[in-house]
This record gives sequence, C-alpha cells and structure tokens, in this order.
Amino acid sequence: MIVMKFGGTSVKDIDAVQRLVKVVARERRPRLVVVSALAGVTDALLEAARLAEEGDATGAGQAVRALHRRHEEMAAVVRGTQRRADLLATIDALFGELESIVRALAVVEEVSPRSKDTIVAFGELASSRIVAAALEDANVPAPWLDARVVLVTDAQHGAAQADRQATDDRLRSLVSPRLADGLVPVVGGFVGATPSGLTTTLGRGGSDYSAALFGAGLAADEIQIWTDVDGMLTADPRVVAEPRVVPQLSFDEASELAYFGAKVLHPSTILPAVGLGIPVRILNSHRPEKAGTLVTRSPPDGGDGPTAIACKRGLTRIDITSTRMLMAYGFLRRVFEVFERFRTPVDVVTTSEVSVSVTIDDRRGLEGIVGELSAFADVACEDAMAIVCAVGERLRTDTRLATRVLGALDGLPLAMVSQGGSRTNITVVLRDADAPAAMERLHRRFFEGEAAHAGRDAVATA
Ligand code: ADP
Ligand code: ASP
Ligand code: MG
Repeated sequence: MIVMKFGGTSVKDIDAVQRLVKVVARERRPRLVVVSALAGVTDALLEAARLAEEGDATGAGQAVRALHRRHEEMAAVVRGTQRRADLLATIDALFGELESIVRALAVVEEVSPRSKDTIVAFGELASSRIVAAALEDANVPAPWLDARVVLVTDAQHGAAQADRQATDDRLRSLVSPRLADGLVPVVGGFVGATPSGLTTTLGRGGSDYSAALFGAGLAADEIQIWTDVDGMLTADPRVVAEPRVVPQLSFDEASELAYFGAKVLHPSTILPAVGLGIPVRILNSHRPEKAGTLVTRSPPDGGDGPTAIACKRGLTRIDITSTRMLMAYGFLRRVFEVFERFRTPVDVVTTSEVSVSVTIDDRRGLEGIVGELSAFADVACEDAMAIVCAVGERLRTDTRLATRVLGALDGLPLAMVSQGGSRTNITVVLRDADAPAAMERLHRRFFEGEAAHAGRDAVATA
C-alpha cells in the first residue's frame, strides 16, 4: 500500500481538488489519502484565535465566516446533488461549531494552547471532508476518517508527539480493514488527539509528519508527498532563480535540508520512514507525470558537489564568552542548561577556547536566556543573521568539498562555520542581508553551467 499526502496548495481550490481526484483515481495500489488544510487556512485560523484572545468577538466571528464561505464554495467540486447537500451540511455544522468556540473564547479573552489546537484542527477536518466527498463523487470509494481517532499523541499542544504504538493499533483496526476492502480512506493530516480525546496538532507543516507516521504504521511501500514543485530542489525557489530537481537523495540529506529550511518536507517526516526504510517520494500535483524526488536510505552516488543547498533566515546569534580566563570544564554544560530551561532549540554551535556562539530561531526566551548567561559569561547578541548550508553525502567522502563550498563564499563575511558530526552538511552563519548572495553564488558554483546540468532534470515550479 502507499500513503498519498496532499499539501495545502494541492487542495487550495476546486481545480486543485480535481487534480487530486485524478491522481488518486489513476493509482491502482491500495492507498490512504492524507490532506492538509486548504492553502492559507491554518494561518487564517490562527488569526481568528488571536482575535478571540484580544476579545474581538466580531473580528473572530468574521474571520470564521470568511472561512465558512470559502469551504462552502469548494462544495461545488461535488456534482452529485445529494452528496453535495450532505457535504454542505457537514461544512455548516463544522463552521457553526467553530464560530461558537471563538465567540466563547473572545468573551473570556483567553485562548489556551489547548483551545488553539481545537481551533486550528478545523482546517484539516474540513479539507478532508471535501476531498473524501470529491473522491466519492468520482466513484472512488473514499470513507472519511477522523484524524482525532486515528493519530494518538501526547498532550504537548501545538507540537504534539505521536504515541506510535497506540497509533499503530488504531491504524490496524481502522485503516487496514478498509484498505483490504478496496476502499481509499481519507484522513486529515496535522491533527491528532490525546488518549483522553483532547484535540492536538503536530506543529506547522505537520501533515507530512502524519503521512510518515501512517506510512510507518501501515508498513507502506511508499510515502508520497504531493506538493506544488517538482520535488526537492537544489535550492529554495524563492531565493534562487532557477533551482533544479534533485532526482534522489538520502534520508540524512533530506532531514538536514528540511531542518535548514527546505519547507517541502517537514523535518520530522523522515524519522518514522527511516526506521523502516520506507521510501518517500516528493511529487508535483500540477505535473503528476514527473518522476519527482525519491528519498531513500542509500541513493546511488552521482555528480561531485553537494546535493542541495538551503538557508534559514531571520536568526539571532548569541556569543557567550566565559568570564574566567580559561574555559573551565562545566562551562558548556552550564550554557546549554540555560537554553534547555527556556526550551529554546539551538541550530548551529561553534566553540573556541573561551567562548561559544550559537544561533536560535525562537527569540521568545531571549531576554531570560541572556539574563541567566550573564551570571557567568559576557553575552553579545546579533539579530538579522542567517544560516546557509550545503548538504550532501559526498561531504563525507570528498575531503576537498568543504573547502570548495567555502571558496564559493569568498569575500562574504562569515560569522560562524561548522561542519556537522555526520559530515553531510557544511554550514555557515552570516548576515541575513548576505544570504541571497551566498545562495546564488553556491548555486552558480555547483548547480549551474554545463557540468552541473548533466543528468539533471530542469525544473518548473507550478
Ligand atoms: P505544501 O502545501 O504542499 O505542504 P509547502 O509550502 O509546505 O507545500 O512546501 C512546498 C514549498 O516549499 C515549495 O512551494 C517551495 O517554495 C518551498 N521550498 C523551499 N525550499 C525548497 C526546496 N529545496 N525544494 C523544494 N521546495 C522548496
Ligand atoms: N495545515 C498545517 C499548516 O499549515 C499543516 C500542513 O499543512 O502540513 O501548517
Ligand atoms: Mg508543507
């Protein structure tokens, strides 16, 4: 069996859902369909939650009604009169309930992480209903499954972790029998629930993670991530003018790229797939005939440079220098304990004898972090920094590749340089304003020109 996950852009309007229906209908293997909320809906739901928290009942209500209308319009994708009426009734009920929730929260002017999850989950609950009805309408027997019953998680609202064992049990009892009956179940991604039934979400971009969890639980032959680009590209298409498709890459490369900003895959996606060696394929729902990108444990080696480059922007660098003359042991531990206390993940770390520099993305704890570090170190922060990294298995074996990467950046002021222990990436930190130039230069050096083109597929973004 396979898992077919469609991202927000692949369900964003009627045309998109019609494309999805064609792709799913044409597939002959047993399949589970996982869908994101319609593009932009999760952001709009978060905005409604914010308005409610401010006590703006009218604004929050209006935001929900706009979403209600958008989903109602989508029902036109279903031609069967009765089926369309049923879908409209479901949508009305969902958004009616949502409006009562946000209005009630606006009265108390408080939206807890738990309530916020209840609100944002409506995006996937609604989109999955639409997709199931559209498939049924095209004679694909597609029962809708409630993600809150299928995906069991802990209670970390907004960033819930799956309980793999419990989820696998649910998959075995709810999904496997339906697949065996030739049905094509449809479930919303991103959403789950605690064992006691409280709605949770997996973090932004989390539908990919749902797809991978389901794929692992069902021992899928393949997990397909359908999106709006031809696959994993050699660079973010919004930063580099003409990136190319990477036909194959390793799990390690994919997770490094995802972690450092290649949004096409959620960083957690790979984990469940890696354990079981399930291939992940990234495909373009606008151009389903394209081969896409295949992510596997050990893809064949090709070319002589990095596999792709990525960047993560808008970061803060913190330089922490021990106030004692020499780096006493225990210094690093004390430093990282502070980040741990403030639940702030650190992206890149470099050290010298007396100082350590780190970058962070989430600035919410910054003031507290600086305060605590200042007790035993001199601390300096710089905002508007970026990470640029080159990723490739070849960095492990080609000892000169790292130097070639740095050579391409000659003249740009680098604040930090790091080569990870896994040696599949070389990472630099520089000023955010220099990031586009750094990306362009690396791309030109390794992916453009005759040599770089050989054997690669030209890309077109949809
Ligand atoms: P979906 O709605 O399908 O989940 P996302 O917006 O989450 O889509 O991810 C797809 C987007 O990721 C692409 O449209 C592209 O702009 C962006 N992206 C960033 N870096 C890369 C990359 N290296 N390869 C492919 N896409 C990338
Ligand atoms: N809808 C969620 C988001 O926008 C999850 C996803 O699309 O993967 O983050
Ligand atoms: Mg995504």
